Amino acid sequence: MKKLALHWKILIGMILGILFGFLALQFGWQQFITDWIKPLGTIFVKLLKLIAVPLIVASLIKGISDLKDISKFKNIGVRTIFIYMGTTVVAITIGLLLVNVIQPGDGVAQETVDKLTNTYANSSSITSKITEATKQQSNGPLQFVVDMVPDNAINALGNNKAMLQVIFFTIFLGISMLLVGEKKSKPLKSFFDSLNEAVLKMVDLIMLTAPVAVFALLANVVVTSGDPEILLALLKYALVVVIGLCIMVVFYCILVSIYAKKNPLWFLKQLSPAQLLAFSTSSSAATLPVTMERVEEHIGVDKEVSSFVLPVGATINMDGTSLYQAVAAVFVMQVLWPEGLAFSNQMSIVLTALLASIGSAAVPGAGMVMLVIVLESINFPKELYPVALALIFAVDRPLDMLRTVINVTGDATVSMVVAKSVGKLGEPHVKNWDDHYDEVK
Ligand code: ASP
Repeated sequence: MKKLALHWKILIGMILGILFGFLALQFGWQQFITDWIKPLGTIFVKLLKLIAVPLIVASLIKGISDLKDISKFKNIGVRTIFIYMGTTVVAITIGLLLVNVIQPGDGVAQETVDKLTNTYANSSSITSKITEATKQQSNGPLQFVVDMVPDNAINALGNNKAMLQVIFFTIFLGISMLLVGEKKSKPLKSFFDSLNEAVLKMVDLIMLTAPVAVFALLANVVVTSGDPEILLALLKYALVVVIGLCIMVVFYCILVSIYAKKNPLWFLKQLSPAQLLAFSTSSSAATLPVTMERVEEHIGVDKEVSSFVLPVGATINMDGTSLYQAVAAVFVMQVLWPEGLAFSNQMSIVLTALLASIGSAAVPGAGMVMLVIVLESINFPKELYPVALALIFAVDRPLDMLRTVINVTGDATVSMVVAKSVGKLGEPHVKNWDDHYDEVK
């Protein structure tokens, strides 16, 4: 019998998880889900995070040392940063155009605003987001560069949130390995090559449990989601974000087809397990190991490119989130502060959303923190921040799930484009978890 493809298994797990979540709501099994189902999803996300740092280090070292030439690396680096900025600006522009044309803020009644404010404005999740944003905002403009440089390699490698520090240290080490010459760097290179193979195998093994994990993750999302009536009141706003995200998919497909000369449907199919995980976990950082595995083995991007482009992208390139920023910022202005809707403010949104997406973490809900930074840049009245966040909080989780899919798809697309531009887009070479199982069982 033909084996069911991974993406189908994951999709079935997701659908069953959603159905089970609704059943649980119906029969009051929320506590059962929290106690017995949610931990399965949490363990899965922890496993993915567990292998993120070793995978980035091993594959980036392998990538750089396989290049054998520092100037090639510089070439890839510069292109990557520029293309990432380009796709982010496209995303923000699409968001701004849609929100100005569709005007989702127009129909929102004062009652809805009051209800949302009463429900969420003083909740700890909102106040903590505002505090976090203020902390980031009080830093100088070069702070993120300063933060990128670790002062302790072991601490950096031990901190999943310090992804850029890990990347910095690894590139530094990789380039130094090139400079000491092939003979002297050989033991290190062999070590990291072998580590890389083993960690990629860990990804395959973890993915065997993905269908069960997404079941658990989604059942939990359903039982913890907000009041459906409030969700309906914000439907127009949510739809604008969703339409924008769909346009981004079309944009990526065009890039893949015209620039990388590959069939976009094939591309989406190969990437789909990573996209489904992005949706289920709302975290592009947690999805990163799977994105790397899919892009390298199933799409054929050489490790020299993917090992740099994808980890960097997970941290600095968030097209879905940036598009969402633009829509959310203008939406709250339409509802709460229409006098602020000047063209100059919208231009500031483009710039700040771009910078904020570079500086923010790839974790669930990071987009809300960025939104405060964006609002601050246009002098949105401070006393209205909690109300502004309350306004969009109810639909944040589903939109977060969707924008994370776009964040991951954007990274994968750019890795293909960069790979094509430097002649490093090859053929897929799929490895399965049990390729060598017969030898050891
Ligand atoms: N959850 C998103 C990510 O990890 C970030 C955000 O939009 O909140 O990519």
